[in-house]
Amino acid sequence: MEKELEGKVALVTGASRGIGAGIAPELAAAGAKVVVNYQANREGAERVVERIRQQGGEAYPFQADVSQPDEVKAMFEFISSQLGGVDILVNNAGIHQHLPVEQLSLSDWERLMAINLTSLFLLTQAVLPHMKSRRWGRIVNISSLSGVAGTHVESHYATSKAGVIGFTKAVALETASFGITVNAISPGSIETDMLAVTTEERRQKLISEIPVGRIGQPEDIAWGVRFLVSPRASYITGQTIHMNGGEGLY
Ligand code: NAP
Repeated sequence: MEKELEGKVALVTGASRGIGAGIAPELAAAGAKVVVNYQANREGAERVVERIRQQGGEAYPFQADVSQPDEVKAMFEFISSQLGGVDILVNNAGIHQHLPVEQLSLSDWERLMAINLTSLFLLTQAVLPHMKSRRWGRIVNISSLSGVAGTHVESHYATSKAGVIGFTKAVALETASFGITVNAISPGSIETDMLAVTTEERRQKLISEIPVGRIGQPEDIAWGVRFLVSPRASYITGQTIHMNGGEGLY
């Protein structure tokens, strides 16, 4: 298969498991050197790196909480000194919490916003100087069906994911003339720890609500990311691609 990302450096946040662990090997298969960011799950990140290396790719694990400016700064210092800079940024790291709005504490709200939304601001600021100097860059932000349709008892999560779409459009406008594209992917239900379908009955009910008749896999989203970051996707910016098997269509 074509190695259309040869010579590029990609940073995938939250790549130790779930969707990010699907995206990182896909970008490596396309020829990119990949930084596999994680917060706590070092073993997961090392497994992803090992999988990439066994496929002949180049990858590096890096621990950083993407909501913490100092940790983000340290990650970019590592990338600048070892790899030269980030050409492709995938803002994938995120957390999720089910609680009615009246039971959310301010710290619940602020923590989720910091990880799911403020991190995009911190990482985007960090990558733009390098991308502008190269006059080429790709940013893909992972939103959610929740940010478009709203979901039950996760008002802060839905708000953060709607914010991802607004941020994507605004930064796309600011950066288009530099050869940088900024897009979002809005996944529906994807089989990861976050989805946590605990019983077979719940699983069957969920499948019955997805027109294509199956729960999505991380690889489904990884393909979308690979398409958006490819050189041939240079005429797509500020868009949100809905990858949800038809879930939520009405
Ligand atoms: P997941 O399986 O829970 O994995 C979350 C990933 O994010 C892990 O790698 C985790 O690292 C990392 N992470 C969490 N907090 C972090 C922080 N502060 N700094 C750095 N990394 C952090 O989640 P997922 O389902 O793959 O979700 C990935 C993205 O897709 C999220 O933005 C989520 O909102 C979005 N999404 C998911 C679904 C779905 O159905 N699964 C649907 C729509 C959108 P550790 O392993 O080190 O904890």
